[in-house]
Amino acid sequence: MEQQLELSFDEMWEKIMACDPTYDGLFYTAVKTTKIFCRPSCRSRKPKKENVAFYFGIRQVEQAGFRACKRCQPEVEHSPHTGVITDTIQFLVNHYKQRLVLQDIADHVGVSSFHLERLFKQETAETPRTYLEKIRIDKASHLIISTNWTNLEICYETGFQSPSNFYKAFRRLKHCSPNEYRTHVRMESRP
Ligand SMILES: [Zn+2]
Repeated sequence: MEQQLELSFDEMWEKIMACDPTYDGLFYTAVKTTKIFCRPSCRSRKPKKENVAFYFGIRQVEQAGFRACKRCQPEVEHSPHTGVITDTIQFLVNHYKQRLVLQDIADHVGVSSFHLERLFKQETAETPRTYLEKIRIDKASHLIISTNWTNLEICYETGFQSPSNFYKAFRRLKHCSPNEYRTHVRMESRP
């Protein structure tokens, strides 16, 4: 799995601040001051932004001289299927803009679509489709914070086929509308 993960530094930063487990296994947070590395979802005290470096592979982060965090144990694989699941999620993160059907994902990972759906559900309690929707809404939230794009532009940029699907998914995952989210973030960032 040499393919680079298409997430910016700021996006990865947002995810570690949220302790979001969605991206576990895709990248690691290395803290230059403590020489410890973590999963994105680790609930240990957050480092300062300038002390953080992100790595995409466990070998690379270990070779760079970092030790695994005792709390989140990023070096421990919880299941023999971790490879397939991580591969699937990475594919979703890198292709969220496209219209994807289960077969495309299964072809990429190299298993049957039936097997993938079942395995994914077993390991994450979600389907690849609902997981993709979460990744798209995370992208949308990031764009709301970091750009001046309209909701409609963001809707199509993040791979939604219609505004109504976008609004529905946004509300379900963020518990507010895109406009409410925008206002909320602006208010919070006000000095
Ligand atoms: Zn940790």
